[in-house]
Amino acid sequence: MRTWDAIVIGAGIIGLSLAIELRKTGMSVLVVERGEPGREASWAAGGMLADCGLEIPAALQALATASARMYPEFVHELEDESGLKIDLRAVGTLLFRDAPLGHDFQDFPPLPAPLEEREPALRVPGGTALYLAERSVDPRGLTLAAIAAAKHRGADVSAGDTVLEVEIVDGRASAVRTNKTRFTAGVVINCAGVWARQIGPYCFPTRPVKGQMLCVAMPRKELVRHVVRAPDVYLIPRSDGRMLIGATVEEAGFDKQTVPETIQRLRRAALALVPELEDAKIMESWAGLRPGTPDDLPILGATPTPGYFVATGHFRDGILLAPVTARVMGSLITGGNPNWEIKAFSPTRFSL
Ligand SMILES: Cc1cc2nc3c(=O)[nH]c(=O)nc-3n(C[C@H](O)[C@H](O)[C@H](O)COP(=O)(O)OP(=O)(O)OC[C@H]3O[C@@H](n4cnc5c(N)ncnc54)[C@H](O)[C@@H]3O)c2cc1C
Repeated sequence: MRTWDAIVIGAGIIGLSLAIELRKTGMSVLVVERGEPGREASWAAGGMLADCGLEIPAALQALATASARMYPEFVHELEDESGLKIDLRAVGTLLFRDAPLGHDFQDFPPLPAPLEEREPALRVPGGTALYLAERSVDPRGLTLAAIAAAKHRGADVSAGDTVLEVEIVDGRASAVRTNKTRFTAGVVINCAGVWARQIGPYCFPTRPVKGQMLCVAMPRKELVRHVVRAPDVYLIPRSDGRMLIGATVEEAGFDKQTVPETIQRLRRAALALVPELEDAKIMESWAGLRPGTPDDLPILGATPTPGYFVATGHFRDGILLAPVTARVMGSLITGGNPNWEIKAFSPTRFSL
């Protein structure tokens, strides 16, 4: 019977990035995915790489900054190995806030040019306006490239296999039992997003946080160039002329239905910012489930069982955090020292 050095449970952006990282060390890797690879939260995401301290929990700042810096290289490698193009944009973000900035954030640089010059189509809301030098990425293109790159690097992928349990023999993780079969490995990593909690023997405290959003075709390319984040809506333009409008943050269990009134409310909020979107055609609307945790921090590291690791709970920032998560987890699994302090993310901070 074939065995692998590592089994990664879940082919979202977190599991795929880690599979690639482990292959780079020469480990044989099997990714086990219950559905179609890359079609859950990582498919639903907006793709803002928002590492600004105004919006990231303080404990996560170092990882967020590091990951944002890794992005150009991360994307370049995925493009190279997959042969696919990924839409990574570096135009920046216009952030509008109702409240004035607190003391800690007085040092943000002023906007480099008047907003009317930067974004003529934007009806500027009141409040505080900031320019952030953030990037954005198309998570679907990213995820498709990560699937192709993982395969190109020699990772095996078993799709349509639901992991039910991680098996422990002599106190070590040794295999996963699925609805169809059993796969054996020396190391198992649970990257099952919000579903991580359903895989025995541990119950990681992930919870679904629903996000609905929609995508429109801009009446002209580059109608809006920056990501725009306002208190009740955000806009993410893509280079091909699409614009994403998002997103709700709802505690609604595992429900992934879109609600027409909610989609219309988001659309109206976008229209208030960019009136020229009035006739923009809605191309698609969808909902996805962010993997939330009780303290809004990810769950990263070794479980109490040797050989069993977890990387989940990336909540609103899993696209941003994928490269650094892969790096940190790769070091832990291969016995190295992660370059970052990760105690705050330990799975053992919860009773499992
Ligand atoms: C509307 C919305 C907007 C977002 N916007 C952003 C953003 O702008 N920027 C950002 O950084 N992040 C954003 N996020 C968050 C981001 O999408 C997630 O944090 C990230 O995708 C989590 O990746 P993941 O691989 O952990 O989870 P997923 O992509 O959900 O992958 C988990 C995988 O595990 C599989 N799986 C589950 N159970 C099992 C099992 N038992 N056996 C085998 N496989 C299993 C699932 O089928 C799935 O494919 C957004 C999320 C949503 C929903």
